[in-house]
Amino acid sequence: MRVYNFSAGPAMLPLEVLERAKDELLDWGGTGMSVMEHSHRGKAFVECAASAEASLREVMGIPDNYKCLFLQGGAYGEFAAIPLNLSAPGQTIDFINTGDWSSKAIAEAKKYAVPNVIASEKDNGFVDVPAPDSFEVNPESAYLHYTPNETIRGVEFDYIPDSKGLPLIADFSSTILSRPVEVDKFDLIFAGAQKNMGPSGLVTVIVNEELLGKARPECPSVWDFTQQAANDSMLNTPPTFAWYLLGLVLDWIKANGGLEGMAARNKAKADALYDYIDGSGYYTNPVAKHARSWMNVPFLQAKPELDKQFVSEAAAAGLANLAGHRSVGGMRASIYNAVPLEGVQALIDFMKEFAQKNG
Ligand SMILES: *Cc1c(COP(=O)(O)O)cnc(C)c1O
Repeated sequence: MRVYNFSAGPAMLPLEVLERAKDELLDWGGTGMSVMEHSHRGKAFVECAASAEASLREVMGIPDNYKCLFLQGGAYGEFAAIPLNLSAPGQTIDFINTGDWSSKAIAEAKKYAVPNVIASEKDNGFVDVPAPDSFEVNPESAYLHYTPNETIRGVEFDYIPDSKGLPLIADFSSTILSRPVEVDKFDLIFAGAQKNMGPSGLVTVIVNEELLGKARPECPSVWDFTQQAANDSMLNTPPTFAWYLLGLVLDWIKANGGLEGMAARNKAKADALYDYIDGSGYYTNPVAKHARSWMNVPFLQAKPELDKQFVSEAAAAGLANLAGHRSVGGMRASIYNAVPLEGVQALIDFMKEFAQKNG
């Protein structure tokens, strides 16, 4: 039996995608072998890779002067790769700190450059984003890095920060492909695949060509954006299966109304869940309403001593992975693209019943 999987990542994938991958697993495209067994330099895989990139460009509306890179090392790897590609030793890098992933990016950048935190929600417990006019960039900094959606506490920007001419770098790991995005407002977008794009093992970097050619000599070649761009992300063996599966996920998005379709679906799910939580008198979500994530919905119950019971009874009812992040506690429902509205409705029904019985 398939369950509704509310994991924050690796996350639920669309059933149609898994079924297609299963159908194609042993004999991909009549080649008599699995896509995993193909050379990454062979014609069949090179075409598959190019077609996934074309789909990503079409779905996101990525301008021609941006390169799409398909790399390894995850989003966490990019926390090091980006400073090594875009900053000089001793140079400052501006950061907006809205949660755990921004904090980790700052700590990693500190190994290579000088983080300059221009706005932080830390002292407020990471339950909001800073007001758009409340921070100032340092014009000498290499770039401005921020996290449009903080996966752990469910805090999402409702605006694009004005970087005042600095390159704007955004960690889209947990919100990419969830709705339309104006790619040309950013200079570099990166995202680990395992939330909304496919399986783990792949990180996508969408980078304005103007930022290429600046990597430090000590930057590992596999993370050097310029070298990878010149080699179509095949300087070495790429994660071929994850790249192929990204193509299938993009086909599914195209068949379901593109990013407009995803936005309508995701807004309906998030509205239903937050409306229920706010009106329940038993569950709460601490995040400022304008900064609530469409993808990750943390919630607390009036009797936190029942958290373990909630999570295990939900799992028994086919609602998997609802425990909050270990650093935060409580519960969290991640409702990425592949989680259907029926899954969110099933969760709400379960929450109602649980509150009635135990509240
Ligand atoms: C999951 C996540 C990461 C880390 O991704 P990995 O692929 O595990 O390295 C970084 N940033 C955000 C916002 C995330 O959600």
